[in-house]
Amino acid sequence: LTFAQLGLHPSILSAVIETGYTNPTPIQAQALPVVMAGQDVMGAAQTGTGKTAAFTLPILHRLMPLASASASPARHPVRAVILTPTRELADQVYESVCRYGKNTPLRSTVVFGGVDIGAQKEALRNGCEILVATPGRLLDHLTQKTVNLSQVAILVLDEADRMLDMGFLPDLDKIIRALPEKRQTLLFSATFSNEIRKLGRTYLNSPVELEV
Ligand code: AMP
Repeated sequence: LTFAQLGLHPSILSAVIETGYTNPTPIQAQALPVVMAGQDVMGAAQTGTGKTAAFTLPILHRLMPLASASASPARHPVRAVILTPTRELADQVYESVCRYGKNTPLRSTVVFGGVDIGAQKEALRNGCEILVATPGRLLDHLTQKTVNLSQVAILVLDEADRMLDMGFLPDLDKIIRALPEKRQTLLFSATFSNEIRKLGRTYLNSPVELEV
């Protein structure tokens, strides 16, 4: 199986090829068709399996029809939110979104705690379709109304087990309640504990379970 056979938008496929990838990893081969079809996913995957591209590539693909070339921030509402447990992971995921999306007009931004919030507010004001964030800082932006999540169509909970271990459940609950109920939700976790399954039951809609 090659990336070309998966039906990705040409602008995204070209970025994948420029990155040097020819074949999808097992989690990518499984996740791409399911996510591209709009279904929810519970994915059991460790880092190093290629899980980042497994969700960033199909998200970019799904958002392409909504991509605007306009500079106006209003034409770039947040459509996808990717939540990660740490600043390092947020940065890594953001880099992937930038790399795979570089031939598209889609915009992305990353926000995390421990740094000045002012520059993040400015970036959010400029508009972005894809927002990568850690839960605490995203909640700060929500509370201060410096981000609008009313048009979010896709939510990713990356390394959900680590987010729960770090005590982010109350923040996750508040963030998810601010999102439209009609959306696609993807949950990735190294393990499927009872807590993770409960999170999945609460926030996912008939998810496809993937394991690698
Ligand atoms: P991840 O599990 O998302 O952290 O990715 C692990 C590493 O695998 C990263 O350095 C990626 O750049 C690389 N990678 C992801 N997908 C592929 C692929 N299809 N072919 C080759 N390398 C890949």
